[in-house]
Amino acid sequence: MTSMPATENIIEITYLIATALFILSLKWMSSPSTARRGVRAGEVGMVLAIAGTLLHHGIVDYRWIAIALVLGSILGVPLGMVHMTAVPQRTALSHAFGALCVTLVGTAEFYLRAPDVPRFMMAVLSMEVILGSLTFTGSLMAAGKLQEVLPQRPLTYRGQNLVNLSLLAIAVGVAVYLVLHPGEKQFFPWIVGIPLLFGVLMIIPIGGADMPTVISLLNSYAGLSAAAMGFVLDSKLLIIAGALDGASGFILSVNMSKAMNRSFSNVLFGAFGQEQVSSVGAREARPVKSATAEEAAAILAAANKVVIVPGYGMAVAQAQHKVRELYDALTKRGVDVKFGIHPVAGRMPGHMNVLLAEADIPYDKLLDMGEVNPDFPQTDVALVIGANDVTNPAARSDSSSPIHGMPILDVDKARTVMVIKRSMAAGFAGIDNPLYYLDKTLMLFGDAKSFVGAIVREFAGSGHS
Ligand code: NAP
Repeated sequence: MTSMPATENIIEITYLIATALFILSLKWMSSPSTARRGVRAGEVGMVLAIAGTLLHHGIVDYRWIAIALVLGSILGVPLGMVHMTAVPQRTALSHAFGALCVTLVGTAEFYLRAPDVPRFMMAVLSMEVILGSLTFTGSLMAAGKLQEVLPQRPLTYRGQNLVNLSLLAIAVGVAVYLVLHPGEKQFFPWIVGIPLLFGVLMIIPIGGADMPTVISLLNSYAGLSAAAMGFVLDSKLLIIAGALDGASGFILSVNMSKAMNRSFSNVLFGAFGQEQVSSVGAREARPVKSATAEEAAAILAAANKVVIVPGYGMAVAQAQHKVRELYDALTKRGVDVKFGIHPVAGRMPGHMNVLLAEADIPYDKLLDMGEVNPDFPQTDVALVIGANDVTNPAARSDSSSPIHGMPILDVDKARTVMVIKRSMAAGFAGIDNPLYYLDKTLMLFGDAKSFVGAIVREFAGSGHS
């Protein structure tokens, strides 16, 4: 009898430590130098949260939990090993699983409690299942679009936003009715079914390029639905963790929209990407200058100040370790080398920071857009490695460009620009880049890893000293 309060105390303390670790984790993840610690803190926090939950006296049978743990691990371990470029869709799948779980728990709780569901409880239960269901199908759709098993192109039709918002309004209306009449159980499937459909329809008009922003928004919804579940299950830990998840996902979506100069409503309702017809004709007609690895090495060896701008191509080619070798070769020769990091370079927030940190590039050499842009006019060489949209000057000057207004890295202001990419193909936004036709630009055609490797070999074996 006396052991029960002791166990309760242990559970409470475990939850308190887990909560503190979740908060510290978010704080530490905001800087590359503490990000690893942040991830560890989050992991330990989650282990403690699970351990504390398993100590609950309410658990009558551990067998189902053991089966769930085994199943979760079987799915989770391979999911954790996907390639870095597949992380956005992997994250979307995690949200889908979390949201499905929240919806199932909410549904079970409703049928266990109905008809005696107090109004506040019914309100949070409704919020839980509505957000959970739309996040479940929305995240599956987002993952499918990013994995290209579904068309990336936005699919639109007349009155689409009206249809979608009406559906959501019906679901909310039914939820309000249930709050007032929780005994009317036959209406409950509506607040699960309609949002499931809404989740699909919500993602259909959104293009692949906007998917990471949408995933981060779905992350926010998943967090909010988990927080609502915390009220239903009377779990402070779940309320806090869900609120942290909801708020951080929302802040990230807002920041990503800002970095692409898009408003939130434009991402959600603008069907971005529709007019992404590439200007192939214009691309073919205009000449560009290209250079070999030997010539590129000679130019770099003569430079005092170099800014390397990595992008999605560096990630696909996994060229970060070769880039590190190039950084070493150049700094050994006294060249001042910095990295210009665009907030939406690559395919997920922090993509470039993660890759360059993996290759042990010193954090103080990674400058964000605001810090590095004033440096370009004094930069001898801007070396663009597999980046395209984030360097496109049309964003500044061409008001008809789909990326007009997106802040970019001003590489065109450097004395010489060298661009490593395999062809004249467009980047994610599907548009031509006037940077490539400038007099000062040299195209270094090839795979990022092989080309950077070839430049490094030039330094190792030749007289560029
Ligand atoms: P990008 O505009 O997509 O361009 C990447 C370039 O890399 C391509 O032009 C491609 O040209 C080249 N490339 C591909 N594979 C390569 C390889 N193996 N070796 C060398 N080059 C290779 O990339 P970005 O400049 O990083 O811009 C990111 C884009 O994603 C932006 O439009 C941004 O808005 C969008 N986005 C990002 C996020 C995020 O969170 N980071 C979120 C939403 C949207 P070739 O085919 O000719 O090689």
